[in-house]
Amino acid sequence: MSKLLLILFSLAALFQNSNNPGISFDNLITRIRDQKISKAEALKEFTKDIASTEDYCFKQKIKNYNSQEWVFPLKGYSVRSIGGKNGSGYVVNGYNFFDGNKHTGHPAHDIFINDRNQDCIDDKTKMPVEVLSISGGIVIGVEKSWEEKSDLRGGRYIWIYDPSSKVLFYYAHNSEVKVNAGDVVKPGDVIAFVGRTGLNAFNKRSPTHLHLMCLRLDNTGIPVPYSIYKELLKMKKK
Ligand SMILES: [Zn+2]
Repeated sequence: MSKLLLILFSLAALFQNSNNPGISFDNLITRIRDQKISKAEALKEFTKDIASTEDYCFKQKIKNYNSQEWVFPLKGYSVRSIGGKNGSGYVVNGYNFFDGNKHTGHPAHDIFINDRNQDCIDDKTKMPVEVLSISGGIVIGVEKSWEEKSDLRGGRYIWIYDPSSKVLFYYAHNSEVKVNAGDVVKPGDVIAFVGRTGLNAFNKRSPTHLHLMCLRLDNTGIPVPYSIYKELLKMKKK
């Protein structure tokens, strides 16, 4: 009897896993990144994955958080550590999500940590710096296996989709990723440690930082760059 129960439980777990839209979304994001799929086909699949992710979150009764509950993405840091002046590091310059690893522009904010010797350990706390999820949502893409010779620009990265704001959050250059595709996160959850992974981030001339990009679905469902600077100013600090 107990053996039968065990089999039933494993089957249920398998079923739930195959139903988790984060897994197929992660697969799509990797193919877009590596330009293994045409833009038209990618948009079709993207639209489908967004719909099944929203459906999943609704059916699983995953809690919605509004932007007043958002958390600043680096533990122990604040807006003072954002690169540029008043968010001037954010440059769209033709960025298109469907260009993958070959995209143009920098529609993102880089947030720098105190790391003069570039060992990814905070010079003041002597600890790695935790990357926190800004919003609630579901992990729809991760890369954990970046190596020094890779031409991946994002290094070890995380994509999270928040169905309540319709924003995709991208956290790049981490030293270590702590979540998996399909995981549900809430604001303030530890998702990674700040690192130097990625083609340019690995270079000596690049100070250690988190690359934070947000894409918001427009009214046709296409992910377009969205500057989150104004929200960053108001986020809760941990
Ligand atoms: Zn950047």
